[in-house]
Amino acid sequence: MPTEGADFQANYREEVNASDNKKKSKVVVLGAGLTGLSAAWKLAEQGFGVTVLDRNPFVGGLAATFRRDGYIFDYGPHRYHTRVDYLVDEVADLLEGALDRRVRITHFYFDNRYFQYPLKAENIFSVMDFTQVVKCAASYAKAALRRRLLPSESKDFEDWCRSHFGGELYDYFFGPYTEKVWGVPPSQMSVRWAAQRIALESLWDAFVRLFNEKRQLRNPYEYTHSPYVSEFFYPMDGIGRICERLSEETRASGGEIKLGANVEKVLLGEDGQVAGILAAAGGKTEEVPADFVISTLPINNLMLMLEPAVPDTVAAAARGLRFRATKFLFVMLNQHKVTTDHWIYFADRHVLFNRISEMRNFTPMAAPWNRTSLTLEISCDEGDEIWNAGADWLYERSIGDLEAAGLTERKQVAGFWAERVHTTYPIYLKNFDTNLITAKKHLAGIPNLITCGRQGLFTYINMDHAMMMGFGAAQGVVEGKAQDALRLIGSEQLYFG
Ligand SMILES: Cc1cc2nc3c(=O)[nH]c(=O)nc-3n(C[C@H](O)[C@H](O)[C@H](O)COP(=O)(O)OP(=O)(O)OC[C@H]3O[C@@H](n4cnc5c(N)ncnc54)[C@H](O)[C@@H]3O)c2cc1C
Repeated sequence: MPTEGADFQANYREEVNASDNKKKSKVVVLGAGLTGLSAAWKLAEQGFGVTVLDRNPFVGGLAATFRRDGYIFDYGPHRYHTRVDYLVDEVADLLEGALDRRVRITHFYFDNRYFQYPLKAENIFSVMDFTQVVKCAASYAKAALRRRLLPSESKDFEDWCRSHFGGELYDYFFGPYTEKVWGVPPSQMSVRWAAQRIALESLWDAFVRLFNEKRQLRNPYEYTHSPYVSEFFYPMDGIGRICERLSEETRASGGEIKLGANVEKVLLGEDGQVAGILAAAGGKTEEVPADFVISTLPINNLMLMLEPAVPDTVAAAARGLRFRATKFLFVMLNQHKVTTDHWIYFADRHVLFNRISEMRNFTPMAAPWNRTSLTLEISCDEGDEIWNAGADWLYERSIGDLEAAGLTERKQVAGFWAERVHTTYPIYLKNFDTNLITAKKHLAGIPNLITCGRQGLFTYINMDHAMMMGFGAAQGVVEGKAQDALRLIGSEQLYFG
């Protein structure tokens, strides 16, 4: 008769075997951004065989850092902030304490004037023309009254703006600014965009708060959450240091990180599970076998990479999910300082760039002694004139506006260069949610595939959320419950910001 001790031993052996088997599993992580590397790190630490594939020759994705001629540049301002203390500890440990605390200083520039950001009513009214203020206030009051007397569902984002803020403010600010940033008329954007604004670090967001403050404060999550957090953390050596350290730790635990590896196909076996990944690197295409796949690739591209191909309706849904691209112009200056701001928004439509940031204000290591730099963010669509433009063209289109805003002069410019990113912001077009549900439903039928991250879930997340998603995905693999992880990641509002 088996004894209690024998039962325990048998169970224990089973658990050890199960855990050993898992560790023999080959996990392929698509994308070496913050989400992918956070997952890879946790899995490699636990002994899983991990391979990370990224088409870039560097790690970090959107949170990467470039170092050139003694300057440090990020893809626009990246401040690390979270309300999950343990994430600050994780990052501080990773960086061995090389993490500074900063207090955010920001403004925005519109109609030849600087405004404080976040907006304050007294500030905006003191710099706007009196007649403009009266017109905006009257149309806002009219819209508010109409909404109260004749409540109706907004059919699109323009409709929502007009009914919440009035036609004057829409025509003066919201309409032109939205179109500049998103490249589509607000009438083509979803009302859901308005609901997502809480996580958006934008000027638009500031206006919403200014005119809708009471409603905002009712939601404690919204109130405490990110865009208005004034303190933030920043690695002394650039935001990309976090991912660089994650990749070093992943490699130290036996994980493999293949850069310059463009994922082309996700191969499904007869059982409907992912069997391998086809990736092109150095002129060769190779198949990487996979027991589990964590993808942080843009969800639309992922859907279209599945082999056998998805049904036409699913492919159409994937194509309907569009991202906005961004060109970054990095300008090195012979000046000591341009501003005290971390960043400044530029809302006017005639100004090419949406925002500038001064890296020296994030870390003194961002530029050589007595020098500084500016990063310009320019919204565009893949394939359009801006996307295809060279650094010279972008510079010539921008320098006059930098001078007009009193920031710098042509003679101070020591050099400039440009980078571009395909997928910076998911565009919430009117039917985006239907397309997203179709895509996610299809992916939920693939038991060993998790899609996560900013691009993988087509959602605005910050860096802390990206890390949490990566950890969550890793946990899903450890527990052999990829789809549970997907459901959790996809439904947890905390991570969506
Ligand atoms: C301008 C800007 C400013 C931001 N500022 C802040 C901020 O202040 N604070 C904050 O917390 N967050 C900020 N964010 C958000 C933050 O950058 C992201 O949430 C985070 O970096 C997302 O990480 P990710 O790994 O999910 O996605 P990504 O970083 O996009 O990683 C996806 C990776 O997939 C790779 N990939 C794509 N296609 C392929 C392919 N076919 N084959 C191989 N690899 C592929 C890409 O190269 C990329 O490395 C900002 C974002 C932007 C764009």
